[in-house]
Amino acid sequence: MAVRKITEYPEKVLAEVGKPVTSFDQDLADLCADMFETMYDAEGVGLAAPQIGLNLRLFVMDCEGVKLIAANPEIVSTEGEQSGQEGCLSVGKVPAVVIRPQKARLRAQNEKGEWFEREAEGYASRAFMHETDHCNGTLFIDHLPKLRRNMVIKRFQKEKRWV
Ligand SMILES: [Zn+2]
Repeated sequence: MAVRKITEYPEKVLAEVGKPVTSFDQDLADLCADMFETMYDAEGVGLAAPQIGLNLRLFVMDCEGVKLIAANPEIVSTEGEQSGQEGCLSVGKVPAVVIRPQKARLRAQNEKGEWFEREAEGYASRAFMHETDHCNGTLFIDHLPKLRRNMVIKRFQKEKRWV
């Protein structure tokens, strides 16, 4: 297991639509173990493959008791609305309020290739949607009005200069 380098905005891979996961083998299990380790090391609650530079439809998460591996994820249904703070390891965790559905139902494959569905609400459903977005080349800042999006990017770039 190893902590991988996290890719950051505006690296190109973060804006690309991921390729489907097709091999459910030991390499995938090892990759997922690295992704969990990288996520915990960065104190995040979710991490998608593009965030470690891989153009793949894959994410891991451990958020409010929902711990899972999701390959080829899709959001099959949503319900309600929530407004809450969100941040991303690829944008320096700079927070911004994003409006999302309150509940979401995720359909994905586990590391063995078995399909499953899981429902979550609140912060965990936010993670479902945030990480599935990554697999489609979308960042949370893409959901923000232009002015606020620019403010988050500016703050991120400013903080990066001080690190
Ligand atoms: Zn993210």
